[in-house]
Amino acid sequence: MIQIPASQIIFDFSKDNTPVATAKSGDTVIFNTCDCYGNAAPGCKLPLPKNGNNPTTGPLLIQDAVPGDTLQVEILDIEVASEGLMRSGPGKGVVGHRFSKEFVKRIPIQEEMAIFDEKLQLPIDPMIGVIGTTSAGAAIPAVTPDSHGGNMDCKEIKKGTTLFLPVFVEGALLAMGDLHAVMGDGEIVICGLEVPGRVTVRVTVKKDQTITQPLLQTEKYWMNIVSAPTLDEAAKLATEHMHDFLISHTELDAETAGMLLSLVGDLRICQIVDPQMTVRMEFPLSVMQTYGFIPWHC
Ligand code: CA
Ligand code: CA
Repeated sequence: MIQIPASQIIFDFSKDNTPVATAKSGDTVIFNTCDCYGNAAPGCKLPLPKNGNNPTTGPLLIQDAVPGDTLQVEILDIEVASEGLMRSGPGKGVVGHRFSKEFVKRIPIQEEMAIFDEKLQLPIDPMIGVIGTTSAGAAIPAVTPDSHGGNMDCKEIKKGTTLFLPVFVEGALLAMGDLHAVMGDGEIVICGLEVPGRVTVRVTVKKDQTITQPLLQTEKYWMNIVSAPTLDEAAKLATEHMHDFLISHTELDAETAGMLLSLVGDLRICQIVDPQMTVRMEFPLSVMQTYGFIPWHC
């Protein structure tokens, strides 16, 4: 099985990055990842560059992936280390103006529980903060989410889900990192429970679909994930994008699709702390299937 060590990292998604491994469509690949600070994983003590955090493992070249294809990434497993940490301080995140000091909190993880303090243990729900293909244009820093994916901080990107990413360059150049053992929608203090770990994915090149934004299929929902400079823009784009998708991939017309978006579509915030804001629209797969949609991953 192809395995990429946590020392093989990039700090931006750039078409000029040299692939560190090559896979065929249908291969299973393990990405070992540092935490977003690059300094908590054993054997992964990295000097952080000036341009920020989020060391991202990769990129992986997928043979036969060409611009216009869609890369299907099945998240088969996410394992996390036995300790994570949170770091924030004045001016950081949504309530940073109320903080008087920098803080770092180390949080042990035992038997699938994050031990926050002596009073509270939280069940972990591991997710991938940064995952993306590589854009054809200028390099995009690993801290910035965009149409290639990247730092989306979407808590629904977790074990058992399937992410669809646009392919913009030959080989797709997939990379991922920034695992969170648990995180709430919003990522309010600019971190989740940051943790090193290991992600197992199966990568498949789909030649029959072209997409422009990341899409996610979960057990019960179809989602799109959209990033934009403001929450308002991201929310509007995510809604319009899902409306377009419903019209083009089901028998629904514009008015009926709009009504159903209003009745059963859930517009949710992924994160409001990164260089662009990220929003997702969640729509029930069963309703789409009622009107002729065939899920992309069965
Ligand atoms: Ca992140
Ligand atoms: Ca993070």
